[in-house]
Amino acid sequence: MVVSLEKHVCHDKKAKVPDQQLVFGRTFTDHMFVADYTAGVGWHDLRIQPYQPLTLDPSAIVFHYGQTVFEGLKAYKSPNGMVRLFRPNLNFERMNESCQRMSMPAIDPEAMLESLIELIKIEKDWIPTAPGTSLYIRPFMIATEGYLGVAPSQKYKFMIILSPVGSYYKEGIAPVKILVENQYVRAVAGGTGTAKTAGNYAASLKAQEKATEEGYSQVMWLDGVERKYIEEVGSMNIFFKIDGKVVTPALNGSILDGITRRSIIDMLRYWEVPVIERRISMEEIREAHRTGKLEEAWGTGTAAVISPIGEFKWQNELFYVNNGQAGELSSRLYDTLTGIQSGQLPDPFGWTIEF
Ligand SMILES: *Cc1c(COP(=O)(O)O)cnc(C)c1O
Repeated sequence: MVVSLEKHVCHDKKAKVPDQQLVFGRTFTDHMFVADYTAGVGWHDLRIQPYQPLTLDPSAIVFHYGQTVFEGLKAYKSPNGMVRLFRPNLNFERMNESCQRMSMPAIDPEAMLESLIELIKIEKDWIPTAPGTSLYIRPFMIATEGYLGVAPSQKYKFMIILSPVGSYYKEGIAPVKILVENQYVRAVAGGTGTAKTAGNYAASLKAQEKATEEGYSQVMWLDGVERKYIEEVGSMNIFFKIDGKVVTPALNGSILDGITRRSIIDMLRYWEVPVIERRISMEEIREAHRTGKLEEAWGTGTAAVISPIGEFKWQNELFYVNNGQAGELSSRLYDTLTGIQSGQLPDPFGWTIEF
């Protein structure tokens, strides 16, 4: 251990929730990791302590101006009983990029990974083992200085909380229906779309509400300038298979650089499936659908891993994909990636760490 980490063990352990009853983001483990930052001092008081509410000044900058960033990744228990993490260094590196955009202090990715591993070791019994379940990891940072001026905080808290989560798909991998959003936008180049920062998600709620009312499960975001080019779906990146080739929107300054997205691109190249990162317009999707060349579509992100898309609604048109069924390539990607992540399949890429 390089970092100096204090441990305060919790003596009042919570009852575990049975694997089958787990839902996303509702159950938290007994401990959390906390570190404090003070300008001029740096990060200090790294500690693992019982999971508990925080006491913050009502004037803390995070409450008023949203200076905060987060990450999301998962731990699995592999068949040999070891704990597995999927490319965790990329999450801590991306967190630093988010921090930079939000004028927040950088963390030391190695020290934070070490601290995360220590935390998970203490909480090992909380990792569910039923197929499709995992321990969701939420690192986040908040601006804690009490001050109503619009300026970067002089104080921060970095924390990691853990939440056992159930299988995203209760009955096999099921396609979702997507509403293409023409009014609201998620992000524009130059804004904060490439950062995992709270305001982006607060701003997305209105469109999500509208989609839910219409019976759609997610929103597809178009570019903020022309409402013409495809950006993302909900908080996932998006891929299409058109006429045998895979395409995904190129990172353009407003799209979030997903780790699942990168991994899917690498896997497709490894399988020698052509994959192109470029601009994709809604007109092109309509044309591909009309000519029968729109073969598959899916979202990618840590929570669902792969989420096949069975239907798009754009203005008043409906585009069905693969008769509303999960496609062959989406299913193969899902099985392979979740197999690598959970340790059921070999990892030819060296993406996972075990401890
Ligand atoms: C987190 C996130 C993703 C997916 O990123 P992963 O690293 O694959 O989990 C995609 N889009 C948005 C807006 C996100 O917040």
